[in-house]
Amino acid sequence: MVKKYDYLIVGAGLFGATIAERAHRAGKSVLVIDKRNHIAGNIYTENQHGINVHKYGAHIFHTDYDDVWQYINQFAEFNRFTNSPIAIFDGKVYNMPFNMNTFAKIWDDCITPADAIKHIKKERQEITHPPTNLEEQAISLVGRTIYEILIKGYTEKQWGRPCTKLPAFIIKRLPVRLTYDNNYFNDKYQGIPIGGYTKMVEKMLSGIEVRLNTDFFKDKAKYQSLASHIVYTGPLDEYFDYQLGELEWRSLKFETKVLDEENHQGCAVVNYTGHDVEYTRVIEHKHFEFGTGPKTIITYEYPSAYRKGAEKYYTVNNKQNDQLADAYRKLARKESNVIFGGRLAEYQYYDMDDVIKKALDTDIS
Ligand code: FAD
Ligand code: UDP
Repeated sequence: MVKKYDYLIVGAGLFGATIAERAHRAGKSVLVIDKRNHIAGNIYTENQHGINVHKYGAHIFHTDYDDVWQYINQFAEFNRFTNSPIAIFDGKVYNMPFNMNTFAKIWDDCITPADAIKHIKKERQEITHPPTNLEEQAISLVGRTIYEILIKGYTEKQWGRPCTKLPAFIIKRLPVRLTYDNNYFNDKYQGIPIGGYTKMVEKMLSGIEVRLNTDFFKDKAKYQSLASHIVYTGPLDEYFDYQLGELEWRSLKFETKVLDEENHQGCAVVNYTGHDVEYTRVIEHKHFEFGTGPKTIITYEYPSAYRKGAEKYYTVNNKQNDQLADAYRKLARKESNVIFGGRLAEYQYYDMDDVIKKALDTDIS
């Protein structure tokens, strides 16, 4: 039977939008649906008082992939924003990621890289065996002082369990530098799309039919019958009606305030690394685009356990969840006309550039 569309794309986030754009450009007929009332998935930005508010958390684009950078620059001009967050602990300010500025603040006699190495080496000696959990991994990387000021509280709030019960790999994401360089990322390219991410995704989807407030699972059979190929970017377990069990996620709550103040915290991202406050970060959105207006908008980010109806933000990659995800991936491979792609459908912690890279490398012939 001839189908109405070549591609039905479930989810107007970055993975769905990249596949949709490529398929449309290749002359295929494409329908994109999303259950939310807006496009762009978690990178959605909303303009309020002339400020682009990152509604699902701070998003900084960074990549080392030349092809991804060239691709995305067709749809947006990126500004020169460089992520250099600060961390606040016990009323004091520290630079992130861990670099010479951080070390010089922590140890009074630390000025040169050799001084920092001396301190870290001494503190590292506490761990005499290969690290078995996040606490041991952190101490063996930077020593107990930095662990207690900058890692312990933040990580325990973020993941909702003690660092001694968390896998070591989480902390490997944080770079340690022996230079006075506050750039959070090592990537070749970095920036924020001028005018916001929504405008960028709008451009990607231009000329493509998009239906919002449309949940694939409300009428799965009908949507499946519409197209020869389906690109599914929703949660992996939900596609299979949780038949093997539920995958675990961490969620977040955002509390946003508009302030009659030009500049509230002087930085786009401020991490709160102690247990004295429940939030992990405060975002001041205007600083992503060097905004200067009389008002500002800030968002407190509170990590929370995932409960039905909440948004799924972070995968919880422990042995049990990874095994369950693998079992679902096996089922997914049997769905011959369905591409499972993106953060939710692959159950992977992907940055934006990883998602675009995956979508660019997906065969849509
Ligand atoms: P999503 O953006 O989640 O899109 C999936 C879409 O599918 C959603 O719009 C959803 O509504 C829709 N959908 C789901 N189920 C259905 C259904 N049944 N029917 C119809 N539609 C459905 N990456 C970076 O590179 N830099 C950062 O600074 C950064 N910061 C982040 C901060 C936070 C707090 C989080 C959680 C992530 C961050 N990321 C960052 C990662 C980034 O958000 C993801 O890589 C990217 O948004 C994933 O795109 P996606 O298309 O896979 O998923
Ligand atoms: N982290 C930390 N202190 C900080 C920021 C991050 O200990 O001030 C740790 C924490 O364990 C977190 C991990 O580093 O889960 C990765 O954090 P990042 O902000 O890089 O990633 P994101 O949460 O944005 O995915």
